[in-house]
Amino acid sequence: MTDFRIGQGYDVHRIEAGLPMYLCGIKIAGDCGFVAHSDGDVAIHALCDALLGAGALGDIGKHFPDNSDEFRGIDSKILLRRVSGMLEAKGYSIGNIDITIALQAPKIAPYIQQMRESLAAVLELSIDRVSVKATTTEKLGFVGRGEGCECWAIASILK
Ligand code: MG
Repeated sequence: MTDFRIGQGYDVHRIEAGLPMYLCGIKIAGDCGFVAHSDGDVAIHALCDALLGAGALGDIGKHFPDNSDEFRGIDSKILLRRVSGMLEAKGYSIGNIDITIALQAPKIAPYIQQMRESLAAVLELSIDRVSVKATTTEKLGFVGRGEGCECWAIASILK
């Protein structure tokens, strides 16, 4: 019998001028980025929580505390690889992942394919198992005002 599970994750980061912006491991060109203890890759953080949730392994804050020097400025792809390793250690493989990024600006549609390739490489998945989608919020709310970026992720795992 197959043990099939689903997890969901959510994260928000504040946007400020003069900071780098990383999404799904890809640097987004522009003059503002995410306030964070790590590199601020809000999409990878949501994905980590989806994968951890599927495995009932807690959340990203439990494994990578934001008051630890070890994780200051860390490349979030390293965190994602570690989460993937935790699932492997429990005998799970990833079925598919699906991410939605809500950001008013800049437009990230041109980066979607690179983002999928980036995540597929870190997770050693074929690209048809990796979905990244982007939306604005029609200038509504904190995302619409350009104050932050909101991400949701869902992941399936099985063994
Ligand atoms: Mg975060």
